Amino acid sequence: MDTNLRKQAIANIASRPNPQKGNGREQAISDIYGEDVFNIRTMKDYLPKDIYKQLLATINKGTTLDAKIADEVACAMKDWAIKKGASHYTHWFQPLTGSTAEKHDSFIEPDNDGGVTLRFSGKTLIQGEPDASSFPSGGIRATFEARGYTAWDPTSPAFIKRDDNGATLCIPTAFCSYTGEALDKKTPLLRSMQALTEQTERLMKCFGEVPEGRVVPTLGAEQEYFLIDKELFLARPDLMQAGRTLFGNIPPKHQQLDDHYFGAIKPRILNFMSEVDEELWKLGIPAKTRHNEVAPAQFELAPMFEELNLAVDHNMLVMETLKRVADRHGLACLMHEKPFAGINGSGKHNNWSINPPGDNLLNPGKSPHKDALFLTVLCAVIKAVDTHADLLRASVACAGNDHRLGANEAPPAIISIFLGEQLNDVIEQIERGDVKSTKSGGTMQIGVDTIPIMPRDATDRNRTSPFAFTGNKFEFRAVGSTQSCAGANIVLNTIAAEVLDEIATKLEAVKKKSDFNKTLQDLLQKIVKKHKRVVFNGDNYSSAWEKEAARRGLPNLKKTPEALKSLITPKSLKLFEKYKVFSKIELHSRYEVFKENYETTIKIEGELALDMALTTILPVAVEQQKLFSDNILKMKSVGLTSGSTEIKKHIDNIGKNISALWTASELLKKAINADNSEKIITTMGKLRKAVDSLEMQVDDNLWPLPKYSEMLFIY
Ligand code: ADP
Ligand code: MG
Repeated sequence: MDTNLRKQAIANIASRPNPQKGNGREQAISDIYGEDVFNIRTMKDYLPKDIYKQLLATINKGTTLDAKIADEVACAMKDWAIKKGASHYTHWFQPLTGSTAEKHDSFIEPDNDGGVTLRFSGKTLIQGEPDASSFPSGGIRATFEARGYTAWDPTSPAFIKRDDNGATLCIPTAFCSYTGEALDKKTPLLRSMQALTEQTERLMKCFGEVPEGRVVPTLGAEQEYFLIDKELFLARPDLMQAGRTLFGNIPPKHQQLDDHYFGAIKPRILNFMSEVDEELWKLGIPAKTRHNEVAPAQFELAPMFEELNLAVDHNMLVMETLKRVADRHGLACLMHEKPFAGINGSGKHNNWSINPPGDNLLNPGKSPHKDALFLTVLCAVIKAVDTHADLLRASVACAGNDHRLGANEAPPAIISIFLGEQLNDVIEQIERGDVKSTKSGGTMQIGVDTIPIMPRDATDRNRTSPFAFTGNKFEFRAVGSTQSCAGANIVLNTIAAEVLDEIATKLEAVKKKSDFNKTLQDLLQKIVKKHKRVVFNGDNYSSAWEKEAARRGLPNLKKTPEALKSLITPKSLKLFEKYKVFSKIELHSRYEVFKENYETTIKIEGELALDMALTTILPVAVEQQKLFSDNILKMKSVGLTSGSTEIKKHIDNIGKNISALWTASELLKKAINADNSEKIITTMGKLRKAVDSLEMQVDDNLWPLPKYSEMLFIY
């Protein structure tokens, strides 16, 4: 048997039937959709009518839930879950680790006769008390005060998580400390949604609009990911430990031929995707689109948009499902923002809009009145993004995303808005106010004229913009593929709420109805004049834009440490405190947690790189030198010399890289000991250069790490 793990892995893959046979789908989608969710339909079946109505009001209108009905809801949930095979329940929450957390308790309660009854009370539904001391809190909660609370979020339905031998009832919850500070991502998200809802409803009222239910922000989160064969994954300690390759050369053929994007999906991958879709549909997650992405072995999954809080929860489940199903298919799902240097990275497209029931405030072109409201929200977003571009940048800052933002395939670290030609024209007209010199012969008057219907074809799309208006929504494209969407949307909701608040306050002060349009026009004109600098419709990848953005005074926060500082500026604190999204202590805790997470990630990568360089790479480089040197000696012993000068040169070149590897390792050790993230990154770069050069010098049969050409193309 081959002792080279890499060669073994490839042999194993080659001898395996491909694709593995699936079971086929036996049930119609409509029969399985939402079957594992305690959704409105299920509630109706399981709850007494009055209880059902009260719960529905809480879900739809945001009214507080009467604690008295909790017992009935809990009992119904339990009965339903047990029928689904569940033995346990868990409060499912989203701590600041960035992933989800769960602790299972069974329903059983022993009775006096040696048997058990199954119980689940309203109290246990509404509140849990997990030990919070092992979750990051950024100093909010001292370890001696370990208690934390989870509180049921009735706006995100409970669901069943299945394993091969059973099932668990999962109850989405918010997670707070004993003293009431939010220790999670959901609590501030819900608060920010509340702020946005309030301010939007105020604004709508100024326009004489009364929504027929709650106005909610919506999210459609497109998820990118890589799939590689699990055998190859297991032969790469860096992928297993850091989620990305710390070494490796780009193969001659990668994505230059553009032959992967939207290409025919390979059978094995399609089998995987079908199973993912089915699992998601059972969970009531509207998985819609699946396709090959730009890089080889890269794919995307996009669900239909949903109410924001639910969509964030669902995206967490999407990531979890992708990983779990991949494993079952002998694949590894790489969620990292940049698993392969030099190859496209993965992100999330965060499609966001504000929706009254059955409507969308970012949908233009219906009537002058609707357009006035649309333009107001549009201008509000422009002002919000310009005022708080640094916060938006901070919301997507993490070690993984630093490899992606600003590389030549992802949006740059400079936050700007793409509006498209037509909307840009409208904005310019607003800016010009009553100057009568436009394409259409006159200047658009807000509240009087209708925006021309905008064609929504692909030519009007700008793939390079970090924040693009795409017809009826804004698409924030800088979110990292591993990240929860909560962070970005907390910022987005809050900054939008702030400007809507300002505008509503001014419009509410208008006494005479006839002054309304003029006041609005002036208001929007001022906003456009001051904030249009954030609008950029050109190529965001170009170096010219970097210069131009600097001239415009737009922040360009390239790396996580500098970006994170924006979280704790007085401006940020004022914003979040005003809308009760984060208290000062909560905001600082986020800063601390994210900073520490960044530093720890870098340190882990540094240690890993060092270990691999010294124990995996160096030995094969030396082995190679030995093989060649032995050969030269043997040739000499039989009186042959041709080629030996060249081979000697080659051995020497290997030696030079061994030297470089050694020097970089020594520096890396020092940087790690000094906890200097920046130094760790630069020395890891030097180490990588030496290792990657050796990859091209050492016998392919000796090289221990699966190569890019293999990971990206063998499956
Ligand atoms: P793409 O941007 O890839 O061309 P689409 O525009 O069809 O694709 O949709 C991308 C994502 O945006 C999907 O998840 C879709 O459901 C979502 N989306 C569409 N309309 C809205 C909206 N009004 N609010 C939020 N998300 C939306
Ligand atoms: Mg998109």
